[in-house]
Amino acid sequence: MGYLINMAKTPARDCQPCTGCCDGWLQIEVEGRPVYPGKPCHHSTGKGCDAYATRPVDPCQQFICGWRMDHSPLPEWMKPNNAKVIVLFDQSQWRGMPVDVAVPVGRRIPPRALQWLMQFAQTQQRALIYSEQKVENGQFTKQQSAMAYGPPEFQQEVVARLQNGLPPY
Ligand code: SF4
Ligand code: SF4
Repeated sequence: MGYLINMAKTPARDCQPCTGCCDGWLQIEVEGRPVYPGKPCHHSTGKGCDAYATRPVDPCQQFICGWRMDHSPLPEWMKPNNAKVIVLFDQSQWRGMPVDVAVPVGRRIPPRALQWLMQFAQTQQRALIYSEQKVENGQFTKQQSAMAYGPPEFQQEVVARLQNGLPPY
C-alpha cells in the first residue's frame, strides 16, 4: 500500500520519542535497507533517530504522519507511540468521501484508539481502512489484514476488493 505520500509542511508537533514510522509498521526502505514489522530502521534508537540531521529526504524528511501534521484533528494522546496507531489521512476517496488509513504500531490498534477513529469517521463523514499485522510462529510477517469502517457499501466494496486479491483502496 502506498502509505508514504503525506508531505511535510510545517509540523506543529515533535516526533520524539516516537519512532512509529521508523520501526517498520509502514514498511519502508531506508538507505537501501528494507524496514518492516520486527525489523526497525538501522538508525532507530527506539526513542529517536541516531542520524536525524542526515536522514534521507525520501522517505524520512518527506513523511509526516497524521498526528504530526499541521492542524491535525488527532488529540495529543493519539501520538503513535502512545496510542499505538499511525493515522494517514486522505489516502483515497470513495464516492467523494475521504478515506483515511490507520496502521497499528504493534499487532493491532488498541480499542480506545480504534473507537476514537471510528467515531471521528462517523461524525466527520469519512471512511476508514484499518489493518492488523499478521503473526506466524510468534513472529510478525510482512502481511496485514485490512478492515473497513464507514458506509455499508464502502465496506462491501473493500471486502470484494480484498477477496479479488486487490488492495483495499
Ligand atoms: S509516526 Fe508520526 S510522530 Fe511518530 S516518528 Fe513517525 S512522523 Fe513522527
Ligand atoms: S533514518 Fe532516522 S528518521 Fe529515517 S527511518 Fe531511520 S530512524 Fe527514522
